[in-house]
Amino acid sequence: MNPPLRSPLSQEDAQRFGSDPFSTFRANLASVEDRIARACARIGRDPASVRLLAITKTVPAHILRYAFEAGIRCFGENKIQEAITKREALNDLAIDWAVVGHLQTNKVKYLARFASEFHALDSVRLADTLNSRLERENRTLDVYVQVNTSGEESKFGLQPSELMTFADDLERFPRLRPRGLMTLALFSTDMMKVRPCFTLLRHLRDELLQNHPEFTELSMGMTGDFEVAIEEGATVVRVGQAIFGKRPTSDSDYWPGFAPV
Ligand SMILES: *Cc1c(COP(=O)(O)O)cnc(C)c1O
Repeated sequence: MNPPLRSPLSQEDAQRFGSDPFSTFRANLASVEDRIARACARIGRDPASVRLLAITKTVPAHILRYAFEAGIRCFGENKIQEAITKREALNDLAIDWAVVGHLQTNKVKYLARFASEFHALDSVRLADTLNSRLERENRTLDVYVQVNTSGEESKFGLQPSELMTFADDLERFPRLRPRGLMTLALFSTDMMKVRPCFTLLRHLRDELLQNHPEFTELSMGMTGDFEVAIEEGATVVRVGQAIFGKRPTSDSDYWPGFAPV
């Protein structure tokens, strides 16, 4: 396969992604995969049971061509508008798109057109709207139900106590394919505070599995905490910065009330 034609890197791009983003991303991916393997080894898990979902937010579309070349086939975006723009710019590549951020009902129609998975389902109203739109597009969507495991008021996601009923409710929406649960842990560098969020999500999943065998997956862990998440059972880790480098944007752009603890 011929590499896609590329324009020379701007100084800004070279500063952020290195003079050869392909090699940068390859090396970063290898390092993340190695860390996944070592986390798995610590608790006797098969590394093949963990999927690395690359989170591409803020990485410009033309740079994502290098990521594609480096082997990434599923791109995770937090904001729907950014996902739409990139998808248009990259429509010559066979990419699967994941949306991992909170979705407003008025954006559902866009997501329903192209996303293959959605990691932030957190209300019946949203599920209902998504289902209708998917029906119209004749598509289905893999969904992960977001749970607030940190107890922070600012966080999106269902309360743990609402989960069982919610999973029952989802059976009314045949276009949605529940895959599992998703969470954002407490934002802290203290893993003693982070780990219990992941443990809780695993327990909730195990409970849910008794009535809802389709909820097998645990989407949890990001650059700062994915190894702990894997130790607690993550089957999908959503990793951005460890692959693409530090983001120029603040995390508060994505998560309301973001405040590192
Ligand atoms: C940005 C984002 C991630 C990845 O965070 P990194 O620190 O870049 O690894 C994971 N999940 C969600 C919902 C995100 O918005």
